[in-house]
Amino acid sequence: MKAYGPVPSRRLGQSVGINHIPPKICTYSCVYCQLGRTIKMQSERREFYSPEEVSREVEAHVNKAQYRNEHIDFLTFVPDGEPTLDINIGREIELLKPLGIKMAVISNASLMWREDVRRDLLGADWVSMKIDAVTETLWRRINRPHGALEHKAVLGGIKAFAEAFNGELATETMLIKGLNDGGEEAEKIADFLTDLRPEKAYVALPTRPPAEKWVKPADEQAINRAYQIFDEKLKHVEYLIGYEGNAFAFTGNIEEDLLSITSVHPMREEGVDMLLSKAGENWDTVHRLIEEHKLVEIEYQENKFYMRKLPIHSS
Ligand code: SF4
Repeated sequence: MKAYGPVPSRRLGQSVGINHIPPKICTYSCVYCQLGRTIKMQSERREFYSPEEVSREVEAHVNKAQYRNEHIDFLTFVPDGEPTLDINIGREIELLKPLGIKMAVISNASLMWREDVRRDLLGADWVSMKIDAVTETLWRRINRPHGALEHKAVLGGIKAFAEAFNGELATETMLIKGLNDGGEEAEKIADFLTDLRPEKAYVALPTRPPAEKWVKPADEQAINRAYQIFDEKLKHVEYLIGYEGNAFAFTGNIEEDLLSITSVHPMREEGVDMLLSKAGENWDTVHRLIEEHKLVEIEYQENKFYMRKLPIHSS
């Protein structure tokens, strides 16, 4: 279990990330996942850490960040997997409430068909749900869901949550060249999103190295078309395309910071550079972590990225 950051987030300002799922356990194995292929597919919820352990670690991390005058806008459940697989997430949200910082959950929404998951997330202030396709074949090709998941139930659960939730609801749709970037699917997704009435509907592109090398971002024309289609039907549409920036916080241990941030958030070369200078360190640390097989360097769309090398999950 790790709390990390604050890291700059395109949607949430300065966000302290809560990584409460061991790498990488997910209900999906999206072709564009920036964390690589899913190590363990799972659809049953379970306990990974005790809720007290999670809240203790997050609280200690927040205290340290506030002591250094780091500003925090959100505490965000954004593990290297699907956050709602954690059966304690509702309790963890409750335990963290007294910190007085808004709480966000970035979910793939695949378990929203479960009443307990919907109830757990009602306590959050901001929830993002992934909706890359409403056509079942595309959902299977893009998100590669766990075999126990049913497409209709997932979409029904998403609607039920949107109806019940009083916080800020966001949706995220990743556009992949040759899969869901045609106008027809964009129309269907926009119709579905209209019923959800999200505060913001994000149109995203894979800007970091994807799990499958053949995945390419939709081209400009397709992005524009999707944006127009969404914009006609929805209140607020926004691109989620740019890089978040490099304002990563140094919390006192450069090796730990690099490993905990990059395990959920591949960093670009400039971001690593800035973090190293905040820590008064040079690239030797990064080169050593690469030699020790803890970090990997990847080239993607003319940028160098640094990612945590995920261990093989044994259980
Ligand atoms: S992108 Fe999110 S939902 Fe998809 S496989 Fe990766 S962690 Fe899971």
